[in-house]
Amino acid sequence: MEIKTFGVVGAGQMGSGIAQVAALSGYDVILGDISYELVQKGLENIRNMLDKAVEKEKTAQDTADEAFLRIRTSVDLKDFAETEFVVEAVTENELTKVLIFQDLDSFCPSETILATNTSSIPIGKIGSKTRRPDKVIGMHFMNPVPLMKLVEVIRSLATSHETFQTTWNISEKLGKIPAEAHDYPGFISNRLLMPMVNEAVFALYEGVGTRESIDEVMKLGMNHPMGPLELADLIGLDTCLAIMETLFNGFKDSKYRPCPLLRKYVEAGWLGRKTGRGFYDYD
Ligand code: NAD
Repeated sequence: MEIKTFGVVGAGQMGSGIAQVAALSGYDVILGDISYELVQKGLENIRNMLDKAVEKEKTAQDTADEAFLRIRTSVDLKDFAETEFVVEAVTENELTKVLIFQDLDSFCPSETILATNTSSIPIGKIGSKTRRPDKVIGMHFMNPVPLMKLVEVIRSLATSHETFQTTWNISEKLGKIPAEAHDYPGFISNRLLMPMVNEAVFALYEGVGTRESIDEVMKLGMNHPMGPLELADLIGLDTCLAIMETLFNGFKDSKYRPCPLLRKYVEAGWLGRKTGRGFYDYD
């Protein structure tokens, strides 16, 4: 199947990054969110990222301008009826995602592949709520999408080989390197990463170290490019908590219990960079 129109639902940090790389790869893109204000914010984010890429001479001005013009916005999932491939990148909440998949399932042609950028929610659970579980797949991009090479491709028991192969090929066309993971909570990336981030929050909570010393130990001692608390702020503390909840509920193992301090920050609305405050201040 030829993919011409690439849909992205959710214009937050991940969705805007996915729309940007899809447009730069030559796809016509529809980027959707729940309000004009939010899609506009996503579009501004893309413009800024493209301008930076031009400034750093990584992208030509013409290429960036043409890519930007290939992105249309929408606040109505019915507009996705003309897409052949959709990536959902909305808030990490199972019910929200299921409702979007059910709408996409009823509006999109039967051949359209519906991918989710979920960080942890089982793909089979989402797919089983649609009439096309064979065309539902996990396509897990890393943050920031334009810079990070990996895409974790996750097939459920029901995902067809054709859907898997098309998604793999699209990942390569987007300039990414795909890696296959099986459909268990957190897949590979967040099963390994998020317990480390959560443990860093426990270390802060129990006073083992300050936020700075915890991050320094992992950067200078383990050669990580970012400390786990800085990384949590970049990912979004709401997303980190949602992933820990999925791991905890999915495996029923206390080793995945979310740190109470992480929950407290999320309850306070301190979600990291996106709200200007998390473990660090970004004003
Ligand atoms: P975000 O908070 O930046 O953006 C989420 C967007 O979804 C918001 O703009 C919100 O308005 C929109 N949204 C919510 N409900 C919607 C609906 N019903 N219809 C349309 N849009 C809706 O979050 P994010 O960091 O971009 O994360 C999005 C997804 O990507 C999550 O599933 C997350 O787990 C996953 N992910 C995040 C990261 C990361 O580092 N942040 C990395 C990989 C995957």
